[in-house]
Amino acid sequence: MSRLRVLFAASECTPLAKVGGLGDVVGALPGALRRRGHDVRVVIPRYRRTMQAVATRLARPLRVTMRDRVLESAVYETRLPSDDVPVYLVEHDELFDRDGIYGGVAHGYDDNARRFAFLSLAAVALEAVTGFDPDVVHFHDWPTALGPVHMRIRGARAASVLTIHNLAHQGAFGLEHSETLGFGRDAAALVGVEHAGGVNFLRGGIVSATRVATVSPRYAAEMLTLEGGAGLSETLRGRANPITGILNGIDDVLWDPRTDPHLPANFDASSLAEKAVCKRVLQRSLGLRERADVALLGCIARFVHQKGIDVLAQALPALLALDVQLAVLGAGEPWAERFFARLSASSPNVRAVIGYDEGLAHRIEAGADFFLMPSRYEPCGLNQLYSQRYGTLPIVRAVGGLADSVEHGVTGFVFEELSPESLVDAVKTALAVRRDSERFRAIQRAAMTKRMGWDQAAPQYEALYRLAMRDRAHEA
Ligand code: ADP
Repeated sequence: MSRLRVLFAASECTPLAKVGGLGDVVGALPGALRRRGHDVRVVIPRYRRTMQAVATRLARPLRVTMRDRVLESAVYETRLPSDDVPVYLVEHDELFDRDGIYGGVAHGYDDNARRFAFLSLAAVALEAVTGFDPDVVHFHDWPTALGPVHMRIRGARAASVLTIHNLAHQGAFGLEHSETLGFGRDAAALVGVEHAGGVNFLRGGIVSATRVATVSPRYAAEMLTLEGGAGLSETLRGRANPITGILNGIDDVLWDPRTDPHLPANFDASSLAEKAVCKRVLQRSLGLRERADVALLGCIARFVHQKGIDVLAQALPALLALDVQLAVLGAGEPWAERFFARLSASSPNVRAVIGYDEGLAHRIEAGADFFLMPSRYEPCGLNQLYSQRYGTLPIVRAVGGLADSVEHGVTGFVFEELSPESLVDAVKTALAVRRDSERFRAIQRAAMTKRMGWDQAAPQYEALYRLAMRDRAHEA
């Protein structure tokens, strides 16, 4: 099989710039593809936080035309720590030299349309300064979704693939922003960017990309429904070829209970006594009673509607009546932060840490017995994968990637209905299984030994790239 040349264009790439799961995918999948012999590189903006990265400035500047203005940018090249993946950092201080990547959670930066229109264009124009001539440009979510649009307008030779990590974020802006997108209003309408009286980056990408993918097979099906399509189901159904669902992998070096440096003790499926140490230390550090017999439930999430954090809150009185402990880590909607902080202060069996804490996230994954994810929708989800690897059985709602990656009674517990009662019932089922220690151990072992690294997803993306190249060749 021939060696593929693929350029990843994205707004995040772990560890250089991460906000969520998108960054993890862009940080890990290129390396997995390189291990299969392909030449895969990444382009992201040179944010303030990426300026410390050791990087070489390329000799030639990048020229990007936005409407009638030519913007000149320096391009830097750095490498990811794993697999030596080349990453191009596109500099444009006026747009990217800021503390944040997108701005506040509720409202992004006012000029996000312009910032990410620029990034999309820069990715398409990059070849002129790097000499890297990709077969496929792989775009991720709305911040680069205008890339496929520009490639189509230019009749680019390369195929374009757009992965949707979360359909809820579309890059929808007022029509006045169309001036800043790099093409005029008529063209915007023509290529599907204009939508519902404004511009919609993601819609443009969905209409224009050679192939569209998402992060789990179940989510690929859900997004075609009116309920799950976030206003774009018709656009998605209108594509000539189907949406491909490929389950994300996890970084199995960073998330490996055998070597995880955040843990007080390391373990694997054959040394679960060490997991008990993690539980005890976690209980102690959080101020929970150090009891081995009580089930410790973990939950790490952005406190947002998507994660069903309201359902968990409603379920808590019934959950706590079951004699369980709960360790919550998260931040987000103010009501939820207040709710969990108050409960943490008043209940001996609940500890909530409000904020973002990578180390604690690892320690909860390792120390808990069960992990709760009552999501409304979940494109893929990572925590249910981490928790399986750490022998912490996930209790998840049957949506999106949760349904695709947790098997009820085999690697965790799955419930259908989004309600406090269903969540509580699922926890009761899990607790009953835990009382049968042999069965519980068997499920833990099955979860822990399941393969879920990127080496599973990489061949599927490779096949998708080849389909996209074939489609592009036919079109041309
Ligand atoms: P999403 O990307 O929708 O937030 P995922 O489950 O796909 O959900 O990924 C979330 C990632 O962010 C996981 O790695 C999770 O551990 C991490 N995370 C979320 N909230 C926190 C937090 N408060 N502290 C530490 N890590 C967090």
